[in-house]
Amino acid sequence: MQVSGYLCALIACSGLTLSVSTGNQTGLESGNTAPPLLLVSFDGFRADYLNKYSFPNLEKFFSDGVLVRELTNVFTTKTFPNHYSLVTGLYAESHGILASVMYDPVSKKNFSIQNDSDPFWWNEATPIWVSVEESGYKAAAAMWPGTDVNIQNHTLKYKFEYNPKVTFQERLGNLTQWMTTDKSVKFAALYWEEPDRSGHMYGPENTTEMSRVLKEVDGHIGFLMEQLNKTGLWGKINVIITSDHGMAQCSQERLIKLDDCITPSSYRVVDLTPVAAIIPLEGSSTVYKNLSICHSNMKVYLKDDVPDRLHYKNNVRIQPILLVADEGWTIVKNGRLPRLGDHGYDSTFPSMHPFLAAHGPAFRKGYRMSSFNSVDLYPLMCHLVGVPPKPNNGSFAHVRCVLVNEQCGELALAVGLVIGVLIILTTFTCLFKLMKNRDPSSSRPFARLELEDDADDEPLLE
Ligand SMILES: [Zn+2]
Repeated sequence: MQVSGYLCALIACSGLTLSVSTGNQTGLESGNTAPPLLLVSFDGFRADYLNKYSFPNLEKFFSDGVLVRELTNVFTTKTFPNHYSLVTGLYAESHGILASVMYDPVSKKNFSIQNDSDPFWWNEATPIWVSVEESGYKAAAAMWPGTDVNIQNHTLKYKFEYNPKVTFQERLGNLTQWMTTDKSVKFAALYWEEPDRSGHMYGPENTTEMSRVLKEVDGHIGFLMEQLNKTGLWGKINVIITSDHGMAQCSQERLIKLDDCITPSSYRVVDLTPVAAIIPLEGSSTVYKNLSICHSNMKVYLKDDVPDRLHYKNNVRIQPILLVADEGWTIVKNGRLPRLGDHGYDSTFPSMHPFLAAHGPAFRKGYRMSSFNSVDLYPLMCHLVGVPPKPNNGSFAHVRCVLVNEQCGELALAVGLVIGVLIILTTFTCLFKLMKNRDPSSSRPFARLELEDDADDEPLLE
């Protein structure tokens, strides 16, 4: 009792508070005063590019904001599944965009990145821009996967049809114009194809080419800060720069040829590498058996046996057999290596992880975090724009420390102080008791034992 009273007094005197949230985004009921959020993705920006290359503009961006060095993304570590996870907070099996190429055995429909506009594929989840518009605000987008699709009967007014030829400057220029002329725009998303394209073409270990493209990407970040400054948005809106996945180096020496293992006519490939979705056409058990012993650098799963940690089982669009190549290995039916860099591998590989940086009034300044899960970004963004999150696989608690109003530092300090004081008090109590017990006048039995000990050991041994 005395100890707890002492601790309470200490915390009260130090002026610290254990309150965990004093956020100012209070939701629409009480008037949503949250500033707009701009979400930017540079496709295929592997987390450790930050350590290997120079990014003067990006560093300027997060020096006054937040840097999360690594995001643990979702399986498969492909562009479409991960971009949809970022804006829904769901694993791929829950949002339904499982790969870049899909087949739905019930409807018999096919999906590819060139044929992606059927709402059927996207309607299993509600992306944040739909929630924003359902809340009475507007959203704007430039090429972010899914934003040009009519999802759950919402078509964005402020959007581009996908066209890779539209420059970064034009994409951003339109977004900032929409955000400045229409004050009801609460959320904007921008997608850029690099450094993914160069990573595929040259491989992430080609330092000459990667240095060139990453300098270009950093230039775009410089332009972004300039443009936000020019339009009066810099420092007023919240900005998140992130990516969907990393990139691994591939090689002609690391090829797995399926036709060497099974009869070509006995299977259909829906998606190929590095995660192959296979439909057996004849003798399913033979197909599975032959694939299982095909190559030591390829894991083979029946759909029901896919490890739970991958969250890649519970969806009708996942095919009966799943092949997962080891990092840097490529699965082909036959033939040569299709590209020098690839992604899609197990989401536990650091090479598959992207990073995240943030700047704006809601974020701490100069705050660093080693990692969080990419699905945690969705509840954070909902909090930032003040819309209620839909059920998701993320956790706001994991990421709230990036926010200036969350007082995580003070809480950690208070907890540290409490633990420190407890250790000191316990140590002093023990020492005090020990000293007391050593006082001969206060402990007669101990004194007597000492005397007997000195006189003769024999009786004690018996
Ligand atoms: Zn890619």
